[in-house]
Amino acid sequence: MVSNVCVLGAGRMGSSIIRTLLDRGYPTWVWNRTAAKCSPLTALGAKVAPSVADGFRAADVVIINVLDYAASDALLKQDGVASVLAGKAVVQLTSGSPRLAREEARWVEAHGAGYLDGAIMATPDFIGKPETALLYSGSRSVYETHKSLLLALGGGTSYVGEIPGQASALDIALLTQMWGGLFGALQGMAVAEVEGLSLKMFRSHLSAFKPVVDAALFDLVDRTNVRRFAGDDATLASLAAHYSAFQHLLEVCDERGLDAAMPRAMDTIFRQALSLGRMEDDFASLAPLFRNGSPHQSRETAHA
Ligand code: NAD
Repeated sequence: MVSNVCVLGAGRMGSSIIRTLLDRGYPTWVWNRTAAKCSPLTALGAKVAPSVADGFRAADVVIINVLDYAASDALLKQDGVASVLAGKAVVQLTSGSPRLAREEARWVEAHGAGYLDGAIMATPDFIGKPETALLYSGSRSVYETHKSLLLALGGGTSYVGEIPGQASALDIALLTQMWGGLFGALQGMAVAEVEGLSLKMFRSHLSAFKPVVDAALFDLVDRTNVRRFAGDDATLASLAAHYSAFQHLLEVCDERGLDAAMPRAMDTIFRQALSLGRMEDDFASLAPLFRNGSPHQSRETAHA
């Protein structure tokens, strides 16, 4: 049976979700704070819900995609909504933190609805594509019941776990890795240009270097997973080797007057580990420093 869906929020992402659902044949209602934004969607077959409560009444599944949780919270907690929640499936696709997801899940479930919290790992133009990933956590039953609808929004969709905050936690973890790379690229481009290299040249060498970087990344995760921090035969580069090469970045920044806030933060982390005599350890031995910041505890873990 095809579910009736209501999407709360017709911004860039909400509109793309609605267009995809209509395209796949889902009867779709839309509610948006500014009703005029719904017109292009009604032209495609969406029906406008006059109020949030009406949207809940019309649908089996309510997808929320507004700016933030404060906006979403205000929609859910307005008069007349709590009483129409029972038996509905609420799919939260507004970006938020693990804590916000846990709190929203408690409130929604206390009113008799199922709650699934999602993180969209894509921009609006990728919604509905076979490779697009959306991560979900929370009610397994909502996920299983509405799996075909959820997969319609992205073929790479997956269920992360039953704790509602886990999808946003994974989202944050993956984005953190991305920001590390993007900030690194900003610093790298500054080095390249100040030394007379074109960004075209920099770009042309990224793909050749990528497999090496990817291998180091997966090796770091695998070693950290089993807490294999001491240097061994499989270590790709010791901390001492990394730190020696890293000195050249500090030197260029210093000599050419580049901003060195990020390299200096990295230097502090390197030095913390090296002051503990970890020269020959694997790069992964830095991992405990990110958990508790305590060098003593980290050293114990590193050599456990
Ligand atoms: P947008 O600015 O285009 O749309 C925001 C929507 O929120 C609009 O429909 C607006 O009416 C609604 N809204 C804002 N404040 C409101 C309030 N107080 N009450 C009711 N409705 C309110 O933003 P977007 O790009 O569509 O993003 C929507 C959500 O999707 C955000 O949480 C965003 O982080 C997330 N997201 C966006 C992208 C992206 O690439 N655009 C990617 C992943 C996740």
